[in-house]
Amino acid sequence: MNPRMIINLEQLTENASTMLKICQENGVRLSAVTKAFCAVPKIAEAILAAGIESLADSRIENLEKMANLDAEKMLLRLPMLSEVDKVVRFADISLNSEWETIKLLNKAAGRQKTRHGVLLMFDLGDLREGVFNEDELLELAQKTSRLDYIDLKGVGTNLTCFGAVIPDENNLGRLVKIANDISNITGEKIELISGGNSSSIHLLQKGKLPRSINHLRIGEAILIGTEAAYGTKIPGMHYHCFRLIAELIEIYDKPSLPIGETGRAVFGEIPHFEDRGVRRRAIAAVGKQDYAGHDLQTVDNDIKILGASSDHLILDIDDAKNRYRVGDEVCFNLGYGSLLALSTSPYVAKGYEGE
Ligand SMILES: *Cc1c(COP(=O)(O)O)cnc(C)c1O
Repeated sequence: MNPRMIINLEQLTENASTMLKICQENGVRLSAVTKAFCAVPKIAEAILAAGIESLADSRIENLEKMANLDAEKMLLRLPMLSEVDKVVRFADISLNSEWETIKLLNKAAGRQKTRHGVLLMFDLGDLREGVFNEDELLELAQKTSRLDYIDLKGVGTNLTCFGAVIPDENNLGRLVKIANDISNITGEKIELISGGNSSSIHLLQKGKLPRSINHLRIGEAILIGTEAAYGTKIPGMHYHCFRLIAELIEIYDKPSLPIGETGRAVFGEIPHFEDRGVRRRAIAAVGKQDYAGHDLQTVDNDIKILGASSDHLILDIDDAKNRYRVGDEVCFNLGYGSLLALSTSPYVAKGYEGE
């Protein structure tokens, strides 16, 4: 069935193993982040096969899907008040910044006769989630540590997601310092100091991750093989564990400039075209409804992606050595955004390499 995503589970296990080794060498515990592939259990199992013991996702539905997998589960997005019961049931630990939510998690854990771990988020300037003011965070930590059914597991931060702030020794140094302050106030040791996502890997590579940072939450680096601060490839990784296959439904020679007065294209954008004369063009049956306009690259370097509407991907195949015909399949490499969107699209079949 087309379009379809082909997943190479063996290469994923190898990537997870490489990442785990990098973390272990630096005294860092690793939670593998599963959201970009919608937590398909079979794919998560391939990651666990590397010896990883913790899975993290931003959606509680995704952790529920993986309930039968033998691993610690961490909820990355701050819980909604309306989902605390599910959070306690399907997550061992959740990331939090609101006292109201933590109080309800405590009640839910009490009702379920269990305990729930809380990691308090500190906003170091990326301006997404996390307590911004240090005194407020200290107060929240103190109150949290006194709850009956909550374990204060540690502190964490998230960078390079909204404000594109890159983790460095300075901002992560503040995280380490507040962890020490919390430990002094509560009299308890802070088990986890969680220093971010795939954008913190460049510090590991340079040996500059502050030593007290002992936990990272990593998705992109395992799935795509790139670190996220500068987008560089991590040596020894596989970069194409996920690929998209789409089928050609039309091939014609057409001019490269539209004919007639032009206005706005389908999503309201004003397109720009370069006049390259008459070119051989192909349409692949996949569109922005599937990959959301994120990064895609054809494996055949001679094909140029011209653009897409909801259901049509327009390709310039004029320079291709391969003589493409209607019905042929074209293969694409994915970026993190397109992987996330394609995984989410019910119109994209999922298959596994070698099956
Ligand atoms: C998505 C997410 C991650 C993982 O990010 P990657 O860039 O895929 O490594 C880590 N932490 C939080 C809070 C997230 O939302």
